[in-house]
Amino acid sequence: MRLSRYFLPVLKENPSEAQIVSHRYMLRAGMIKQSAAGIYSWLPLGFKVLKKIETIVHEEQMRAGHIPMLMPTLQSADLWKESGRYDDYGQEMLRISDRHGRDMLYGPTNEELITDIFRSHVGSYKDLPLTLYHIQWKFRDEIRPRFGVMRGREFYMKDGYNFDLTKEDALHAYNRHLVSYLRSYERMGLQAIPMRADGGPIGGDYTHEFLVLAETGESEVFYDSAVTDLTFGDREIDYDSVEQCQGVLEEFTSKYARTDETHDEALFNEVPEDRRRVARGIEVGQIFYFGTKYSEAMGANVQGPDGKQSPVHMGSHGIGVSRLLGAIIEASHDEKGIIWPEGVTPFHCGIVNLKQGDEEADAACESLYDALTAVGLEPLYDDRKERAGGKFATMDLIGLPWRITVGPRGLKNGVVELTSRRSGESEELSPEAAVQKIVEIYANHQTGRGF
Ligand code: ATP
Ligand code: MG
Repeated sequence: MRLSRYFLPVLKENPSEAQIVSHRYMLRAGMIKQSAAGIYSWLPLGFKVLKKIETIVHEEQMRAGHIPMLMPTLQSADLWKESGRYDDYGQEMLRISDRHGRDMLYGPTNEELITDIFRSHVGSYKDLPLTLYHIQWKFRDEIRPRFGVMRGREFYMKDGYNFDLTKEDALHAYNRHLVSYLRSYERMGLQAIPMRADGGPIGGDYTHEFLVLAETGESEVFYDSAVTDLTFGDREIDYDSVEQCQGVLEEFTSKYARTDETHDEALFNEVPEDRRRVARGIEVGQIFYFGTKYSEAMGANVQGPDGKQSPVHMGSHGIGVSRLLGAIIEASHDEKGIIWPEGVTPFHCGIVNLKQGDEEADAACESLYDALTAVGLEPLYDDRKERAGGKFATMDLIGLPWRITVGPRGLKNGVVELTSRRSGESEELSPEAAVQKIVEIYANHQTGRGF
């Protein structure tokens, strides 16, 4: 993409409504624009990152054997009356009536709809295990939408639902989700710690929230600092192996890590004192096993091998796709702007032309642009007739992890400059070597192609 032809409405001033850094930078970098309280338009740069995060979530869910589909945003209230949640959900649910006076709602989540689909089509253990998921907009009429996309009213969420014959099988599905979530967050350059949580209105005894540590997080968390040393890394996992998935769950959840809702002071005090941490975190996902809560209420039964009918065991599992943009920025920025991890960066590399209009500099930039594009990478070429300082400030703000700077002086010596946004370090290289280095960096990151 050439910046002169892109739509990147960067703001020079700090928007006064933004209280936290991620909100401020998302507005300043022209990623989002508020359309009403807690409701945003996703401008091209924000949309691009949203899609990259979404792609990672899809890839990791499919890798775990979970099946993508799509359910609507608007739902009929009837199913929610069946489950009993139409009244329970309270004012967070946006209720609508259509021209015939039928009660509708903008879905805050999809347990009812998916249970209805399941009961209409599945009746035997032979069709299990089954995990269906979708990534769709949700609406919760939050009392205090704030912090930009972190607590929106309309937000983008992956929600998946497992259906299993027994509790044992359903707990394997729970563990599979835990593993796939760990992988997803790591690919986004994030550490999200599974912490024991509370079931809330969805209900359930088994539930973990995934938290990204950040001062601006809304949850208070208590943990053994040893959990922060754990990484999933690039190990192979067989998602069908009960032992392997259970092993990962044990590895990642046996150390003390809890949100304030389930915090137990006595247990916490058993952690060696120098490893006890009290901090704040951003919830970027949650997994639940809730058994037969919905299948009993809605008559979703399956026939077992013994011929007997019993309610199917279920769980639901969510990732806050749109909130993740905020969480990643909270975890990765400096005073100049965002620092995107390679896995989700909107463009792989920036190209800054120090002297637009200089024949040699222009030609060198064009050829870098072509070389990067030819290997499937997406550069953002700042080809505007602006002064260098302004170009650098924009690149730093929008946070591309790598930048190639091209100027007549370097070109005389046959070099361009490759700069890491994270470390600030630069090196002089031939244009070919710079391209080669970018290619090598991204060979280790599976990034989705942007839109
Ligand atoms: P919270 O406690 O933050 O209100 P929740 O526990 O009600 O969230 P879940 O039902 O667990 O949310 O939804 C799954 C994920 O969706 C959450 O982990 C979070 O990342 C995201 N999410 C929930 N509410 C919002 C919101 N208002 N804006 C953006 N993302 C949200
Ligand atoms: Mg939650």
